Amino acid sequence: MDPFDERILTALQGGKPKVFTQLLDETGFSHNTLRLHLENLANQGLVVKEKRPTTGLGRPKFAYLIPPRVRQQVSAALSDPLIEIVSLPFSRLKRLCRFEKGGYCKQARKGCEAQDCPQIKKEE
Ligand code: SF4
Repeated sequence: MDPFDERILTALQGGKPKVFTQLLDETGFSHNTLRLHLENLANQGLVVKEKRPTTGLGRPKFAYLIPPRVRQQVSAALSDPLIEIVSLPFSRLKRLCRFEKGGYCKQARKGCEAQDCPQIKKEE
């Protein structure tokens, strides 16, 4: 895992959402480095950005957290360097999947669709 991504995920591992400035303090990264790696982690689905409730006027605040459905995998990858997290679009998974046959899923015994895919861990 990229050491910058690893430091950010470690800071978020506790599950508590953190704002950008908190992550800046905890990681010690530059503003740009943190912003780029947060974008990269968000594109992989490993971090989400949530709007925080604000009282009164002013710009909305956002906090970053690891989505519950990937927390277990992220913890496993952070605790074992041999575990690597791979994220790919469903269209790519379909092409790689041994259960897929002509748009049909032999494992789910129905059409090969992301919402029914047994390979994808669903939100609890
Ligand atoms: S739905 Fe079935 S065939 Fe399609 S990707 Fe998932 S496991 Fe593979």
